[in-house]
Amino acid sequence: MYKALRILLTAAILNSLSLMSFLAMGQTGDTKSTAKKIVIAHRGASGYLPEHSLQSKSLAFAMGADFIEQDLHMSRDDQLIVIHDRYLDRVSDVAEKYPNRARSDGRFYVIDFTLAEIKTLQLTERFKISNNKKVAVFKNRTPLWDKAYSFHTLAQEIELIQKLNREQHKNVGIYPEIKDPSFYRHEGKDISRVVLQVLKQYGYSRPTDNIYLQSFDPLELRRIHQQLFTQYQMKIPLVQLIAKTNWQLTSHYEDGRAVNYQYDWMLQAGGMQKIAQYAQGIGPWKNMLIAGNSRADNLNITPLLKRAHAVGLQVHPYTFRMDEGRVAKYASSFTDMLHIFYFKLGVDGVFTDFPDKAVELLNLDSAVESRKKAQVLDALRKL
Ligand code: CA
Repeated sequence: MYKALRILLTAAILNSLSLMSFLAMGQTGDTKSTAKKIVIAHRGASGYLPEHSLQSKSLAFAMGADFIEQDLHMSRDDQLIVIHDRYLDRVSDVAEKYPNRARSDGRFYVIDFTLAEIKTLQLTERFKISNNKKVAVFKNRTPLWDKAYSFHTLAQEIELIQKLNREQHKNVGIYPEIKDPSFYRHEGKDISRVVLQVLKQYGYSRPTDNIYLQSFDPLELRRIHQQLFTQYQMKIPLVQLIAKTNWQLTSHYEDGRAVNYQYDWMLQAGGMQKIAQYAQGIGPWKNMLIAGNSRADNLNITPLLKRAHAVGLQVHPYTFRMDEGRVAKYASSFTDMLHIFYFKLGVDGVFTDFPDKAVELLNLDSAVESRKKAQVLDALRKL
């Protein structure tokens, strides 16, 4: 009688601890994959220090990010510069230092400057030009023109991350993005070849190496997959970034004319199967997974994540920002937004300017999981 009661009580405890979820550990659940979810430091810890400065990369490392992102453009002397735009003029003093070097569109292109020249520039927090004045894009970040920052190359950044990995017994990955490959080809430079050479030189060449190589350009990713990997005897995970066609983010040159790339097929049924032929993951805009008009009590979840997971693609949406006006309306806070994507939806990772917040959430989740596991094991032992 006493024993029966004890079993009943234990069953009640187990139920409250969601035995099912415990038993499901080790298998893939609907929303909770057992593979470790990752935090990608978007342009470093760019919410705290200027994007793509080495300081923001070191901070991201210290905050516990799993991967650190590098956007890559090319200098006149074929060096890979870690910078988001193909222009230098929204994150530096190039217009003051080299006033006569703009193209006819008024912009100062990375490709028109040598590495030595780029090294003379002051890197600063991102700004926009408003009424002829430079205004910070994110008003509560690093003040414009704080003097600690400068540009660097991909090799320099990899050396920093690898040194920190060695010293701290960690294995933080890199997540480089090949920017505008068709633009560079049009200008006579093959950026993808240079990127692959540097990656190989630094030991990133196998599928298990701690790297994702990303691009918005599907033609270039297919080319890397089909031709360049064979030529360079390497094979590393590729991620297809997905833009909206009307952002006009990617173009290809036809008879010398730039033609805007049509992304729509990626979001249609069958799109993920096509991407899975050459890539291991997708990096969609987060609104492509949960529509922006969703409400807290009624999330409008699109079929994209399920379609991607069904063909084995990792899903790493962008960009999670805590700044004013950047938290989705259906989330009560930045952490709530992260929670919705990681656990209600089930993404495998996120690109965020605030990697510490995502690390904190994932650590909390794994602490809760281990406490649950310990309690369930304890209950089982008493049966
Ligand atoms: Ca990027």
